[in-house]
Amino acid sequence: METMHFESILLPGVDAKRPIVIAGPCSAETEEQVMSTAKQLSDRGIKLFRAGIWKPRTRPGAFEGIGTVGLTWLQRVKEEYGMYTATEVATPKHVEECLKHGVDVLWIGARTSVNPFAVQDIADALKGTDIPVLIKNPVNPDLDLWIGCIERLYLAGVRKLGVIHRGFSSADKKIYRNLPQWHIPIELRRRYPDLPMFCDPSHIGGKRELISSISQQAMDLNFDGLMIESHCNPDGAWSDKDQQVTPDILDYILSLLVIREGKQTTESLTELRKQIDEIDDQLLEVLAKRMRVSREIGTYKKEHNMQILQAQRYSEILEGRIDQAVKFGIDGNCMKKILEVIHEESVRQQMQVMNA
Ligand code: PEP
Ligand code: MN
Repeated sequence: METMHFESILLPGVDAKRPIVIAGPCSAETEEQVMSTAKQLSDRGIKLFRAGIWKPRTRPGAFEGIGTVGLTWLQRVKEEYGMYTATEVATPKHVEECLKHGVDVLWIGARTSVNPFAVQDIADALKGTDIPVLIKNPVNPDLDLWIGCIERLYLAGVRKLGVIHRGFSSADKKIYRNLPQWHIPIELRRRYPDLPMFCDPSHIGGKRELISSISQQAMDLNFDGLMIESHCNPDGAWSDKDQQVTPDILDYILSLLVIREGKQTTESLTELRKQIDEIDDQLLEVLAKRMRVSREIGTYKKEHNMQILQAQRYSEILEGRIDQAVKFGIDGNCMKKILEVIHEESVRQQMQVMNA
């Protein structure tokens, strides 16, 4: 498919400064809970309010969302506090209801983004609209599936796109509710550098105590924004109570974040550092291979009763290699030192074999 070019998802008045924060309860529960949480968040400078209206729950019988009536509460949040509102859509009907009620940002949940049929239905429903859409990673760690979801929306004409990293399902829930597997969003960023990327530390951690450190990690990895679940009374929340914080705590968590250097620099620097890491890996492998050959030479010399140090051979190695290094733009003295150290270790390894 053609190269994708995205349009900014930033709404008027929302600062592009990292992190862009989307906060609000996992679920809209009551009008009072929505209004009280929104007011407290707004008072602390939060501009984007989230609340789930239709909830995909693991087991039936759990609270499955308040439904369409909740959208009228979101309308009040907009009118009374001037916040933008965001909610999850999983069906064309949800999209239609949200558009009718003036929701500003939609997101596709992790249990929906795994399903190309569902995603295609949503994409079709979004044709001809201009609303920003954020796509959570599919529950399983499959980058292509995530990209496929982005492509389906793009092909339907949606250009204001972003993604949310919320971790990946796993049987191992010792620390995280959903494993971060950071290399997946990092690779997504490498492929689509201008695709806005959010991190959802609430759903990754599954616990309040982890929100701060995961948020900091996301900032260090150059994410653009954070989606954090915040509730006026987290302990009484009807869904995901362990991973929600009060607006006060959220404010504190955000105040602790250290935002390092500007976007451009970090991005290319991260990219270059990754290359260095890879090259160092290769260097190590080559060195290990060289030592293995040295030990084989040791075995040969032992079997043939030869001495280890053969001065003639060593000076040939040195001179030849140094000339070559200089041609590659490496300082001759530096190369000499490196070769001497390598040679020393080779001799040590040969001796080990001979004295074994
Ligand atoms: C949510 O944001 O409350 C939610 C259901 O998230 P996810 O799709 O990441 O599980
Ligand atoms: Mn939730």
